[in-house]
Amino acid sequence: MKKYCISCGLQNLDKNTVGINKKLLGTQTDTFYCLDCLAQYLDTTVEDLLDKIEEFKDEGCKLFE
Ligand SMILES: [Zn+2]
Repeated sequence: MKKYCISCGLQNLDKNTVGINKKLLGTQTDTFYCLDCLAQYLDTTVEDLLDKIEEFKDEGCKLFE
């Protein structure tokens, strides 16, 4: 399945970006945002999303690499 940002159309979202979408929007989601658009959508910052990705990685979550 092709992963692209439904907001700005950015192609080839990486695994961590897809992972944080699934974590924050639900694992059933089949639409994804790039980090910029996700931050905007969730009214947060890219920095904050990157911090969260690191936290999930530390927990050993398989959605991240
Ligand atoms: Zn985007």
